[in-house]
Amino acid sequence: MESINTFRLLCTTGTVAGAMIMIALERKYPYSKTQRFFREGFFNDFFWYTLVQSFVLGLAISFLAEWVDTQTGWSRFTFIREQHLMTQLAFFLITHDFYIYWFHRLQHHSKTLWRIHEAHHSVRDVDWLAGMRSHSLEILINQSIEFLPILLLGSPEIAVLKGTVDALWGMYIHSNIDVHSGKLQYLINGPEMHRWHHADEEEAYNQNFSTKIAIWDWIFKTTYFPKGKKASRYGLSEVDFPKNYFHQQAFAFRKFEDDVVSESPVETDS
Ligand SMILES: [Zn+2]
Ligand SMILES: [Zn+2]
Repeated sequence: MESINTFRLLCTTGTVAGAMIMIALERKYPYSKTQRFFREGFFNDFFWYTLVQSFVLGLAISFLAEWVDTQTGWSRFTFIREQHLMTQLAFFLITHDFYIYWFHRLQHHSKTLWRIHEAHHSVRDVDWLAGMRSHSLEILINQSIEFLPILLLGSPEIAVLKGTVDALWGMYIHSNIDVHSGKLQYLINGPEMHRWHHADEEEAYNQNFSTKIAIWDWIFKTTYFPKGKKASRYGLSEVDFPKNYFHQQAFAFRKFEDDVVSESPVETDS
């Protein structure tokens, strides 16, 4: 018990250090030179999404895992837990990344699912913190699918380790760092492609769905990666997205305006 708490503390320290490094690199090598550190929505994203929402949903998902275990007893299956920690991490990382590619793609093509993904695309200045803005329902669905199998079938360290990798990678792919990873961008996703995913520019709509492993986009032909060109406008131009956390959450449940011709990056499923 004590060792897992020490491990958790180590990982938290690593996440904070990672954030500091990315903030410093954003200052030194900015993708967009005009972007401010305290940009619109900074405090909302930091306080409500990063601190409060993550904590509350983390607790909810661990209670859910305990409840599922009392109903099913799945934690008695030890096959995955018996493997090396790195093997377990790779297994959960690859399988979840494949799932998230398809769910993410579906969210961009379904009018209903887009509603819970819209918050993530509402940030106008994409930076190290921007990835944290995701609707609570989107997080609840995705992180339950991600962490329930880990909590039930994996070693306790894996949930902590995977949470750390997610946090660091999420910061990295959104960061305002002018990364040129060359051929590595065929394998590993980074800001070069994910910033285009957030661009409010028509040619980039519905492209670059990958999160960690870039291969999915290349295999399934959803890449937008123009050479020598940078994304410059982000966010949602077709809706007046609220600024307050609670209004942002409620905004997902507004009435559908079927008679309005949408110019949003989502292709409706109707
Ligand atoms: Zn998206
Ligand atoms: Zn994103």
